[in-house]
Amino acid sequence: MTDRLYYTDSRLTTFDARVTSRSNDNLRVTLDRTAFYPTSGGQPHDTGVLGGTRVIDVVEEDDAVVHVLAEPAPLDGAVTGEVDWPRRFDHMEQHTGQHLLSGLLHDRANAPTTSVHFGPESSTVDIAAGGISDRKLEAIEDRANEIISERRPVLVSFEEAATIEGLRKPSARTGTLRIITIQDIDRSACGGTHVSDTGEIGALAVRRVEKLKQGLRIEFLCGHRVLQRARRDARIIAAAGTLLSAAPADVVAGIAALKDGIRSSASTIKHLQADLARAHAREAYAAAAPAADGSRLICAPAGLHREALAALGQAVSELQGARFVGTLADPPTLFIAAAPDSGWNAGGIIKDLIAQFGGRGGGSPRQAQASMPDRDALANAVGSLA
Ligand SMILES: [Zn+2]
Repeated sequence: MTDRLYYTDSRLTTFDARVTSRSNDNLRVTLDRTAFYPTSGGQPHDTGVLGGTRVIDVVEEDDAVVHVLAEPAPLDGAVTGEVDWPRRFDHMEQHTGQHLLSGLLHDRANAPTTSVHFGPESSTVDIAAGGISDRKLEAIEDRANEIISERRPVLVSFEEAATIEGLRKPSARTGTLRIITIQDIDRSACGGTHVSDTGEIGALAVRRVEKLKQGLRIEFLCGHRVLQRARRDARIIAAAGTLLSAAPADVVAGIAALKDGIRSSASTIKHLQADLARAHAREAYAAAAPAADGSRLICAPAGLHREALAALGQAVSELQGARFVGTLADPPTLFIAAAPDSGWNAGGIIKDLIAQFGGRGGGSPRQAQASMPDRDALANAVGSLA
């Protein structure tokens, strides 16, 4: 059993301890006492240095805290440990902010927290609630920041489970519980590391709400992360503004206008494509010799893409007695189009060709297409039409 120094002093970063065991590969070490926090309760582990070797992971194994080293080190006897403070303090800010947010959500939105997660980018609380209005959530966010500015004490106490009172969430544990109290706001049983007063949370910003299968997930930031993210967001918006030649406040309107422009251009391109296809169709029609029955077979030039083939087929099918065959090499695809007086039924022909050469597809009497199993099947199908 490791004596967990962070239970009573979350600001302790340098400590002396004795090695109590180590793995055969000299990568995993346990101590009689440690200030290193192991991953638990949603809070990520600390990093730092132990006996001169980097600690890259800290895990709980039964009652012991196991320090995972970056490289093998035969640590023995007395060692000094040093916890990486910026990482630890970041976790303290996020974790205490979570208690504050969960407490307010519980009291003001009747939304108990069902789970929490502290990630490298942002943290989340999942709450049991069908929905929450933006206004309500903003009021909770405002209240959280008021409490932060009030610098209320955050106290650690050890209390007996049997007689404990006022917990936000009843604990299933028995015996002595470690209780974190934010004065007049929240009392929770928790083994994590926290700041000493709410002022140290710095700031709390709700980022977004996501609907879960059951409940809601609220993403939030605390402390220096609020500033970092605000800075990053401002840069992103400024960069978007530069691309749009718009002020940051006009970025959304600028993007909306851009999307409208793209939609209108796409519509123009579609019309031009149809005009071009009609011109090509007339040219090819004039060059094709009429058969004895008056029909004319027009084969698409190679190398057209799918949309151009479809547009050309459509245009050809509007000309008297015209029959159209086009192919796409990859994936092997056959297009057939036919004028009503051409004697061809495009859909019927495609159906027959699929029965004969494989593939799948279909269409109307005027236009149809099929994807063929391979290029040979496509060539044979086209050959059978000549
Ligand atoms: Zn906690």
